[in-house]
Amino acid sequence: MSGLRIGFALLLAAFLAACATMPSQRAAYQAERQALSDHIRVLSGPEYGGRMPGTEGGRMTQAYMVEKLTGYGFQPGAAGGSWHQPVTLQRFSPVSSRLTIRSGRQSLPLSGEGLLVRIRSESRTVKDAGIVFVADKQGLHAASLTGQVALVRADDMQAVATELLAAEPAAIVALFDDSAAFDRFARGFRNGRYGLITQPSDRTAFALLSPDLTRALYERLATDGEGLAARATEAGAPLPLDATADLAFETARETLETANVIGVLPGRVKGSGAVMLLAHWDHLGTCGGESDEDRLCNGAVDNASGVGVMLETARLIAAQGPLDRDLYIVGTTAEELGLLGAEAFAEDPPFPLPTIVAAFNMDTMAISPRGAPLTVIGDGRTPLDPGIRMVAESLGRKLDIREEHQAFVARQDGWALLSRDVPAVLVGSAMGDQSAFDAFMSTHYHAASDEWSPDMELGGATEDIFLHVELLRYFGNEVSYTPGKR
Ligand SMILES: [Zn+2]
Repeated sequence: MSGLRIGFALLLAAFLAACATMPSQRAAYQAERQALSDHIRVLSGPEYGGRMPGTEGGRMTQAYMVEKLTGYGFQPGAAGGSWHQPVTLQRFSPVSSRLTIRSGRQSLPLSGEGLLVRIRSESRTVKDAGIVFVADKQGLHAASLTGQVALVRADDMQAVATELLAAEPAAIVALFDDSAAFDRFARGFRNGRYGLITQPSDRTAFALLSPDLTRALYERLATDGEGLAARATEAGAPLPLDATADLAFETARETLETANVIGVLPGRVKGSGAVMLLAHWDHLGTCGGESDEDRLCNGAVDNASGVGVMLETARLIAAQGPLDRDLYIVGTTAEELGLLGAEAFAEDPPFPLPTIVAAFNMDTMAISPRGAPLTVIGDGRTPLDPGIRMVAESLGRKLDIREEHQAFVARQDGWALLSRDVPAVLVGSAMGDQSAFDAFMSTHYHAASDEWSPDMELGGATEDIFLHVELLRYFGNEVSYTPGKR
């Protein structure tokens, strides 16, 4: 046979193979899309009540995951042969808040609906605290504002938050000039501050001041926000004001019980480590304004879609048989309340954290269409990058790694692991289509309209299921990946 004819024969074989696999690949994609849609439809349905931890809907969500994982062939993965890792939360809801500003012989008491405080502590009183005005990060150092009250314009808050918290003032008071923005934040503050029962009290109280009270405060100080900000910027440091503050905050504390759901598919090679998927099962319960007609926060995209992608990836892997490494599936609770379930997992893991070779978080997956490029949150922070690139390329997936996406790294469950040196990333298409992502964030994010519909966009998320199957096959098997080796 001549070389040319061999070439032709190979080409023909490849062509026939393509004809044979393409329709079946299309069918596999359609079946996965449907399976994902079914998970989302059930978990975001009204009977699940927005999946708030500590509610019946929360327990139903846990039961749903256990039932599915059992059916796929997984075993309980939490301590004592349980599916559940109990997580005790505490909630501090505001009862009364009073802030008195003294300048000269005059005092200005601020309280009522226009002053909302969030603090993980049952009470906090401070007398004669110094007051500083903060306009930017200049001059903020660790513990540099201990015992003082820091005033910040609400618009500047985002830019200074990290450094300001590190400065550990007794209280941060955000000054609002826009009542719509105040109302939006106030709603969250009225829900209280949540924490794990194991977490210590906050050093710093966080307070919001309404536009009315903010005006009264400026009047008392005989200035305005612009004037103070200009002086603070010029000073290059928090600006001390000629005034002192007394604070008296009280909250009501309650505890509630919830749980992470943990399943395991034991690996073939004992002692070869573990790979892990995690996705938060909880959402907000109800949200929106008191007078809104629909107040059920279904959380279809956030994060029924992540749970669906996780369950389907788990199902496909189990159907192919175990990996070399143990495969842990972790449905975390209370992500929306501050990554609390993931934190509880990392604080008291049912197996040693250092044995985790790779962890993939799945959050808010169903946004972008099929073909959208992948983003990697946590890129540049783990040894997983080369493997992720190789697997993505083998599937014809494009990567779009951007620095701006890394701003989300501490705002997702993987952070509880990554901050403890466990290689944890969030790989997915959700942010791959920037306009689709922006549209979701500005309309349905944490709103009652984050609902399932039969034609919701599942293209990128469905592709992400197949991607994670390949990522697990790569990082979960010794022949393809050994930590510390390329
Ligand atoms: Zn959320």
